[in-house]
Amino acid sequence: MGANFNFNSYPYRYIASFENNEWTETMEELPNKGAQAEANMDAEELSKLLSARNAIGQLPLVNYTTQYGLGCFEGLKVYPQKDGSLAFFRIDANAQRFYNSMKGLRMPPFPKEKFIPVVRELVSKSQALGYCPSYDEEWEKSDFVSATGIYVRPFTYSESGIGVNFCEYPTVIMVAADVGAYFDIKGTPSILVSNKIRASPNGTGWIKTAANYTISTLAKNDAIERGFTECLFLDSRHQKFVEEGSSCNIFFVLNNGNVVTPALGDTVLPGITRDSVITLLSDQNIPIVERDISIEEVFDSAVECFTTGTAVGVSFFGELEYNGKKKIFGDKTTGPVTKQMLTTLKHIQHGLIEDKYNWVLPL
Ligand SMILES: *Cc1c(COP(=O)(O)O)cnc(C)c1O
Repeated sequence: MGANFNFNSYPYRYIASFENNEWTETMEELPNKGAQAEANMDAEELSKLLSARNAIGQLPLVNYTTQYGLGCFEGLKVYPQKDGSLAFFRIDANAQRFYNSMKGLRMPPFPKEKFIPVVRELVSKSQALGYCPSYDEEWEKSDFVSATGIYVRPFTYSESGIGVNFCEYPTVIMVAADVGAYFDIKGTPSILVSNKIRASPNGTGWIKTAANYTISTLAKNDAIERGFTECLFLDSRHQKFVEEGSSCNIFFVLNNGNVVTPALGDTVLPGITRDSVITLLSDQNIPIVERDISIEEVFDSAVECFTTGTAVGVSFFGELEYNGKKKIFGDKTTGPVTKQMLTTLKHIQHGLIEDKYNWVLPL
């Protein structure tokens, strides 16, 4: 992911291997000196220690994940709360999507009921050694764009093998780390329409699989090299309808007041932030429609554009470019609907306003 998204693992790692029809689980403590002592280490030594924490010795090197991208993952955050505690946001939805992804890749799925207790243990143990950020009132001034959270990354890894085969004996690994702002933005955030195809019908676009990310990485880096913040994919058949960003869903506010986001088919990733924003919009009586939206319609009618995802939150774009043509949204700053969604979502996630949806679960 971006330059702001290095992975400096907390000192615990969960590993579960599926064999003989059951999951064998371990919670490993990784090399560490405790958060306090690490804060005072010199950069080179710390970097060695962090590299050791992000290495793994016991898993097969040549396998379907390392060779063919046959693996899936989740990304979820634990949010520091205004009252000093930590809380999950819709973690049950991550457990369900991880299950769906593994089934979609024809692996024995990870039991949903194990997911929350494991993440809870992983984070609590790290917190006990002094890791994990705590709430900072300064974040309120930036609508939490500057907030630090805890990012948890569960993923699968296959058994040894070089043939083109399904993974029958997956290993599930979960790691966690501090995470700050996602996009490295200088000036107006901008999005470049890519001519690459991220997902096609009957494919894997709906699965959070490693395989999808090769194209996303290429397209995003093309965009960054040309001075843009993010890339935007169009549908594979017509190269006409907007689908999503490299790792985020997209919304447009139109000049008639409607908000449109591409409908979920099998080519758009069912984002949990996307789903949450749809709920918030309808509850605030802002008309939200899930339907196809062509790039022409974006040029003709859109006045705001924002993307959603666990890592990006709600992130506005001031400019879009397609085939050399530029589209400017509003006055190139966060528009009113984007701002309302950003604030409401962050305030729920960090425990500033009532969570009437039961989305927030204490750690
Ligand atoms: C993870 C992801 C999203 C966002 O999903 P959230 O559940 O909101 O984090 C969107 N698009 C792609 C391709 C993704 O991998």
